[in-house]
Amino acid sequence: MKPAPTVEDQLDDAIALKQPGSENSKERQCLRCSLSFQSQWAGERICGRCKGTSAWRQGSPVSMSGH
Ligand SMILES: [Zn+2]
Repeated sequence: MKPAPTVEDQLDDAIALKQPGSENSKERQCLRCSLSFQSQWAGERICGRCKGTSAWRQGSPVSMSGH
């Protein structure tokens, strides 16, 4: 259980934006599973594993066999 992103985390983004190239690929901590993963950009906070879960795609219709 991780709390909401802290100010320190936000500053981390600001620093990344000041360094061209660094924000492209950086190891970050997933907000869902709290595991370290290689994010593609500064705003990437969810690891691919969590993105694959249906919980993350709550805004999209589930492509499962309808019943
Ligand atoms: Zn995750």
